[in-house]
Amino acid sequence: MMRRFAVIATLFAVMTLCSTDLTVAQTQPAQPAPPADARPMFATSKVEGTDNVYIFRYQNHQSMFVVTNSGVIATDPIGLRRPQAVTTYVDEIKKVTDQPIKYVIYSHSHYDHIAGGKLFKDLGATFVAHRNAKAQLEKFPSPDVVMPDEVVDNERTLNLGGTMLELLYVGRNHSDNSLVMRLPKEKLIFTVDFIPIQTLLFRNLPDTASPPEWEASLQRVAALEWERMIPGHPYAGGRLGTKQDVMDLIGYMQDLAAEVKKAAAEGKCIDTAMKEVKLPKYENWGNYANFLPLNVERYCYLNNGF
Ligand SMILES: [Zn+2]
Repeated sequence: MMRRFAVIATLFAVMTLCSTDLTVAQTQPAQPAPPADARPMFATSKVEGTDNVYIFRYQNHQSMFVVTNSGVIATDPIGLRRPQAVTTYVDEIKKVTDQPIKYVIYSHSHYDHIAGGKLFKDLGATFVAHRNAKAQLEKFPSPDVVMPDEVVDNERTLNLGGTMLELLYVGRNHSDNSLVMRLPKEKLIFTVDFIPIQTLLFRNLPDTASPPEWEASLQRVAALEWERMIPGHPYAGGRLGTKQDVMDLIGYMQDLAAEVKKAAAEGKCIDTAMKEVKLPKYENWGNYANFLPLNVERYCYLNNGF
């Protein structure tokens, strides 16, 4: 009985609070809206200093496409639960060239980047992904994801209309099947999800087998020859990445590992460490407040041997 009374009392308090808020909202002058996403829904831009490399952004995902006089190499369809992203992507390519879309290269197996490729398939594109991506998609098939036609193991070079595009596997990181796409002449790479720019790692690193292997894969990327990186999400104001960004991310992972190791030695893993570990050096990075505890959680597991 007491409990029921408490629930009713709480409900009443909540209702009072809501109606109070409503009154305040009605009597206060209109506040400026919170900074909504002011960008247009999508944008296509040619990468400065190149003749034929483009970035297609739809909401918060981006893909690279390369136009040659023997056809187009597209990457991730980025059409999960939004088929209009894919029709827009194809329309944007058609605005630039009449050449057919010959290839779609998957950056990795996550649906938010690769769902929606059917339209490209219908237009005759050949789909390429890392071997482990195909295995993953066979394990978890989705009607929205086109199965790769061809797979890459460690390395493959596509030559199309005078453009060379390398597809490189640098080891397990954010997934076990991420490809680095490198344009040697343009000194550009396209990487998705495993090199966030001045941004923390995603949540508690889902689908990541080994954070140390991730770090090793970053060292391999840093050792490649390139100058600018196109990421799969627009980070840090939408700029391209640099090798310094890769080194900074390695530094973040090392600082995180060291702090969590200390917390683990003091018996604070997992919950206390999630609350207490701070890395103020990175507090201006994207998702610092919301993802740091989750990054700590993942590194606590590492200290427990998994
Ligand atoms: Zn991903």
